[in-house]
Amino acid sequence: MTGTTIAAISTPQAEGGIAVIRISGSKALEIADKVFKTASGRLPSEMKGYTCAYGHSVKGAEIIDEGVLTVFRAPKSYTGEDVVEISCHGGIYVSRQTLRTIIEAGAVPAGAGEFTKRAFEFGKISLIEAEAVMDIISADSERELKFARSLQEGAVYRRIRKIIDKIVEVLGALAAWADYPEDDIPEVEPLALKENLTDIHSDLLETISTSDYGRIIKEGVSAVIIGRPNVGKSTLFNLLSGCERSIVTDIAGTTRDVVEESIRLGDVTLRLWDTAGLRDTDDVIEKIGVNIARERLERADLVLAVFDGTESLRKEDEELLQRLKGKRTIAVINKIDKTSESALMEHMSGQFERCIGMSAKEGTGLEGLRESIEEMFYNGEVTPEMGILSNERQLECARSAERAVLMALEALEAGENLDAVTVLLDEAAEDLMNLTGERVSEKVVEDVFSRFCVGK
Ligand code: GDP
Ligand code: MG
Repeated sequence: MTGTTIAAISTPQAEGGIAVIRISGSKALEIADKVFKTASGRLPSEMKGYTCAYGHSVKGAEIIDEGVLTVFRAPKSYTGEDVVEISCHGGIYVSRQTLRTIIEAGAVPAGAGEFTKRAFEFGKISLIEAEAVMDIISADSERELKFARSLQEGAVYRRIRKIIDKIVEVLGALAAWADYPEDDIPEVEPLALKENLTDIHSDLLETISTSDYGRIIKEGVSAVIIGRPNVGKSTLFNLLSGCERSIVTDIAGTTRDVVEESIRLGDVTLRLWDTAGLRDTDDVIEKIGVNIARERLERADLVLAVFDGTESLRKEDEELLQRLKGKRTIAVINKIDKTSESALMEHMSGQFERCIGMSAKEGTGLEGLRESIEEMFYNGEVTPEMGILSNERQLECARSAERAVLMALEALEAGENLDAVTVLLDEAAEDLMNLTGERVSEKVVEDVFSRFCVGK
């Protein structure tokens, strides 16, 4: 544990009703004695944990402000160290004055996230829980908050720990067998070993695939509107974004750039992209637009593939259908205001699980679209309680472990020495302990906490 005692204003640096100044470290109480005079005359260092006292923050004999001081005694505090919190008036000047006297009394200014980092170093919380604290702070929707809470409550930790335990079990069997081959230890059954590794590998794959959900909760569903020219993509985009954002004309090739807008549809946030209509063209600029559209198609979480319900499929539509294989797609049959019977609708319903008749121009079909999207992304199959990875760092660790286990499986199948399997499994376990923070480098820890705010 670091020997210093740290202090910071933990509330926002703005005028408010109350400001909280937090001190943490072995000298927290000693410093509090110097900078805070309780009304009863009792010294903060004489107070029990979880008690508070009214009084004044002072600089020598001079009163700075009135406030309430709360004592948390190690280890029952946020950081695990002795912690003192002073709640004073929420003026910027007055709270900074109080902080200054605390620093003069021997504390050092806390760095970004340093309180939470100490909690991590003290073993109060895992690295994942620390990251969750950051997510809770930045959450701006009910779902996001629920998700962050599940992290804090250890859902991801438990999920990953279970996989580590399985790996360690296999490693144990391998080690026993390698160390005491003559003894009565049952030989490692290649078949059983393969089964175990396959099981671990599929756990990892599943963990990785559900992590999409974490990103979607935080950033929204990236959705690309795609289709050949003139089917009504930009009209749909404008309908969804609620304004005339994208230019609509009956001239094919109007939209050339990607137009982007973040919108809310019911309970879902969409990062919506309108794109150039897919077609072969000699226009240099349009060509670039078409290429970007294809590239976005690959990256998006969701494709809204728009077709003109008043016409039959053209070559460009057929080409699009090819590209949509394996993509999460909703087929939008547009312009149903112009046709009562769309043969296309019937045809597409056979091809796509989700197919919606719409009139982007008149705004019909919007409700169906919203329902489909909600079903696709929030249908309850994936829940925060499962333990969803919440950031790139965690995901990268999981991916690396997955690759190592896959290689171990391949080594086993190739009939290689079991030592090779052991080494690879060791690596996988290491990756996962990096993820949970049980065995993580100082650099990674620094990196995680540098994204926090000061005072947390
Ligand atoms: P894009 O090239 O796919 O972006 O298509 P636009 O949104 O620019 O629309 C092309 C033409 O189709 C315009 O004249 C629109 O007014 C028309 N249009 C778009 N949606 C509808 C619709 O739902 N019904 C009808 N009748 N016309 C539409
Ligand atoms: Mg357009």
